[in-house]
Amino acid sequence: MARHLITSALPYINGVKHLGNLVGSMLPADVHARYLRAAGHDVLAICATDEHGTPAELAALEAGQDVAEYCAEQHEVQKDLGDRFGLSWDWFGRTSRPQNRNLTAHLARRLRDEGFTEIRTTAQVYSVADGRFLPDRYVIGTCPNCGYERARGDQCENCGKQLDPTDLIEPRSAVSGSTDLQVRDSAHVFLRQSALADRIRAWVDAKEGWPQLTRSIAYKWLDEGLEDRGITRDLAWGFPVDPEDFPEAAGKVWYVWFDAPIGYLGATREWTDERFTPDESAAEFDRWWRTDRGAADVTYTQFMGKDNVPFHALSFPATLLGSGEPWKLVDRLKSFNWLTYYGGKFSTSEHRGVFMSDALELLPADYWRWYLMANAPESDDTSFTWELFGDAVNKDLVGTFGNFVNRTVTQVVRHFGEEVPGGGEPGAQEAELAERVDERLAEYLGHLDALEFRKATASLRALWAEGNVYLEAREPWKTVKVDRDRTACTLRTALALALVHSVASSPFVPHSAERLRLAFPSVLEVPLVLDGGLRSAAAEVVRAGDPLVPPSLMFRKLAPEELDGWSMRFGGAAADDGGVADRGAGDEEAG
Ligand SMILES: [Zn+2]
Repeated sequence: MARHLITSALPYINGVKHLGNLVGSMLPADVHARYLRAAGHDVLAICATDEHGTPAELAALEAGQDVAEYCAEQHEVQKDLGDRFGLSWDWFGRTSRPQNRNLTAHLARRLRDEGFTEIRTTAQVYSVADGRFLPDRYVIGTCPNCGYERARGDQCENCGKQLDPTDLIEPRSAVSGSTDLQVRDSAHVFLRQSALADRIRAWVDAKEGWPQLTRSIAYKWLDEGLEDRGITRDLAWGFPVDPEDFPEAAGKVWYVWFDAPIGYLGATREWTDERFTPDESAAEFDRWWRTDRGAADVTYTQFMGKDNVPFHALSFPATLLGSGEPWKLVDRLKSFNWLTYYGGKFSTSEHRGVFMSDALELLPADYWRWYLMANAPESDDTSFTWELFGDAVNKDLVGTFGNFVNRTVTQVVRHFGEEVPGGGEPGAQEAELAERVDERLAEYLGHLDALEFRKATASLRALWAEGNVYLEAREPWKTVKVDRDRTACTLRTALALALVHSVASSPFVPHSAERLRLAFPSVLEVPLVLDGGLRSAAAEVVRAGDPLVPPSLMFRKLAPEELDGWSMRFGGAAADDGGVADRGAGDEEAG
């Protein structure tokens, strides 16, 4: 049994997330957590809502709510949707909670003591009309690098260049559109990332196992030169800077990008505070996060969209390394490209694309989980289409997995009643089946270990298909008329295979897998990974005479008219206008 810490990029607080957000971080993290738990490992899966920053303030303003109240409410909305999607977090916290506040203050103080912070006076944009300093992304203007006219003050989303608001040509306020902007001086705390660049490069160099997408993004940023970064802001919403630690920056708050990743630690501490006594809580927290206090044997895996890689491969490690304390750093960093909606961006304002709440209104979570992971944007961006969704459901879930289970159970009940049929001895065909199933399973587990989710779903699909191939070869519906023993053996073998399917499918379609497992009430639990092989274990636990409880229909087929209707409702092919500047599906996700 190994210990695994898993985090997924923290969903930003302002509203329900779309399917692109889900498949880029939270869902694969859940699949991985479920796989490792099923394999018998000690897993801690952590997520939280990312609650600071100006977008939260503006969303609250628009909703007519106090920002703290708004965040509390939206956190519950996101937690509920996550639960209903089967996201099996051990803890879903909030970056605005006191635990995170303490850790953020602690790490800032440590960075100061180690000489990695400094106070710099920066020229900052103040909007006279809005009566406030404008955060970088709320200053809009023309990109000096590529000429794009709606570049944001933090980054040009057309050419990707990182910007300062004062770099922009013809700047204006994104809040009010006002051009009555002034540049005022303000003192801020800067994190001296440049002074940590060599240590971070050496650390990244050692991460040979990172996926190509992750490594290429990390090196791009390192090669361009890691710049020092202001980690405080002139805002009201956020963790206030401790004036005793940083008197020059009194009255400011920590930048959301500084405290959000620390939220992984903060949420873990929420979990330990909830579960353990005050004395035990600190030690239990350290056991996951401090390599000098028990976390040396932890494997830490992070999941995120590609826009989040620089913060997780460089900035967050800079915070932890620069503290001079032995914090647990990420071991495996799995990043995803974009899931687009017909090649364009998911958009709340334009009612385009499917959001988590819409999805659950239409169909149970497993339909979406399967489609999304089978089409996960791993090697390239992928586009959601209703046609592909319909195929994933009708061909894979209904036609392959569901069909095999349904045929098997129907034959058993019709000819042998509601119990596992007795009689007959396995022969050459059963031995062959066993061999193929073991091969498929080995392949499947290898892909899961490698965090190759599309390949894993392909192996799982192939495993499901073995069931139908076997039934076609053995034809129990014919043999039952002439050879009852042989038929009993066929169906008993098929039932054992259905149990294998249930256990193997649990990371991807947990609710359906559980319903299928309940067909075998005398079977308590079968781990996914066993020395003797899952297939042999299933064959041993599915015993002649054991009760069988026929599961209700596993999946239902989607009719073309139904898919057409959804395409109309959510904006389908006709909405395909995705330009280069309009492709990012990662919008507010941070953490
Ligand atoms: Zn540009």
